[in-house]
Amino acid sequence: MRYASTRSADIISPGREAIVRGLAGDGGLFAPEELNFRIDPADLSALSYQEIAETILSAFFDDFPKETIRTCVNSAYCDAKFDDPAIVPVKPFSDGCFTELWHGPTSAFKDLALTILPYLLTSAYEQCGQNGIVAILTATSGDTGKAALSGFADVKNTHVTVFYPENGVSPIQKKQMKTSRGDNVNVIGINGNFDDCQRIVKAAFASEEVKSACSGVILSSANSINIGRLVPQIVYYYSTYLSLVKQGKIQMGEEIAFVVPTGNFGDVLAGYLAKRIGLPVSRLIVASNSNNVLTDFLETGTYNRNRPFHETMSPSMDILISSNLERLLYLESGHDAKLVSSLMKQLDETGSYTVPSPLLASIQNTFSGFWCSEEDCRKEIRNLYQQEGILIDPHTAVALSALHQYREEGHREYAAVLSTASPFKFSRDVLACIDASPIKDDFEAMERLSELSGLSIPKGLAELKTLPERFDTVIEKDQGIAVIAGEMKELSNG
Ligand SMILES: *Cc1c(COP(=O)(O)O)cnc(C)c1O
Repeated sequence: MRYASTRSADIISPGREAIVRGLAGDGGLFAPEELNFRIDPADLSALSYQEIAETILSAFFDDFPKETIRTCVNSAYCDAKFDDPAIVPVKPFSDGCFTELWHGPTSAFKDLALTILPYLLTSAYEQCGQNGIVAILTATSGDTGKAALSGFADVKNTHVTVFYPENGVSPIQKKQMKTSRGDNVNVIGINGNFDDCQRIVKAAFASEEVKSACSGVILSSANSINIGRLVPQIVYYYSTYLSLVKQGKIQMGEEIAFVVPTGNFGDVLAGYLAKRIGLPVSRLIVASNSNNVLTDFLETGTYNRNRPFHETMSPSMDILISSNLERLLYLESGHDAKLVSSLMKQLDETGSYTVPSPLLASIQNTFSGFWCSEEDCRKEIRNLYQQEGILIDPHTAVALSALHQYREEGHREYAAVLSTASPFKFSRDVLACIDASPIKDDFEAMERLSELSGLSIPKGLAELKTLPERFDTVIEKDQGIAVIAGEMKELSNG
């Protein structure tokens, strides 16, 4: 299986090279050159999460030895890293189920990909016959950063630099990043928003100043622009489906809907790939907060990022440029790199583009979009807790609101809501929805939430209170490239 650039027909790489490089050299993203195989869930029904992962990863990365994939999977999805033996438990509620994607080391769904990416990346790198250092540049809206820092900490021949919006992440997210362990990590705040961080990372790949500073250093990315992050996310769509069959909630072969809280479009794109290779999915529901650029796009075919940027309770979805949408345009247009390249140029130059109407129609056959205000988000958290005793985080609440709006249109099929973060990660906001008593900080909020819900605080969050902060650099967004070039020079020397 090979991966082609979304922007030009002549850049094609095997999986391992696509993983090592992260971005195709022309600014495009690597996407499957073709999707001509199927994985029938009925063939996987007796398998564990790890075995499902092995099957799916081996199909997408068939240039890796099967043994290597097995080692990567078992090193990532293990008891030492996940606090639930199922890895991704599926919990029923009154209108479907929650797929709990937050049992990993940093309590958010990014862990499902970022616990395995370091293993995939380093073995791909060795197979490519490379030596030297892989420098991983990562932009974060809060959760990716910590998951990358945790996944790559002290992994040999790698170095990670994370850029986060100084005023755009939650206090807990910031504390998680600043207290990261490892000698090969760096954390930098940007006076800007997530899109600025993402722009810096993308620009670094194209920058001559950065390139010339790299000797024996290869740039890569841990963002969902890396195909090595996307493919592991297909696994939990299958595992959710199989769990539901096992629990007797659905019949094998029955189509179900997935509701996905969406920012950079990585998570929901993995669901799309699952559907394309044979998972019975009726609809992928794209849930947004008040940064509702995708809701508008799915309705009108016009993507327009020229709009106010809102800081919300669900910061990991505060994004106006959803990078992975580019992969959908490519795959759904029949791999029309010319079209994608021209749309992306328009986006770059004018901040907006409109897709041809047949492409919109075909996207609308699979995707629906809904968005949710801050007030409605709070209501979802409060109602679910009061009516069913279940606690969810604000990102998951945005998805629940989208499910309710979808139901109002009359759809009745079974629905799985992807629950992307532990409620403890956003404890202050969650607590405020269900309890009015005053609290002094996030840690007190976590304890109070724990008392009210009977759930224990995840280990990685509980320990934050006493861990020392190691990083405090904050820079202006126009300093990004120079800072990266400086860092690459240092890595090159030593
Ligand atoms: C990253 C993130 C999202 C959005 O996922 P995308 O792949 O960027 O669409 C949603 N919820 C949480 C908690 C996240 O960390």
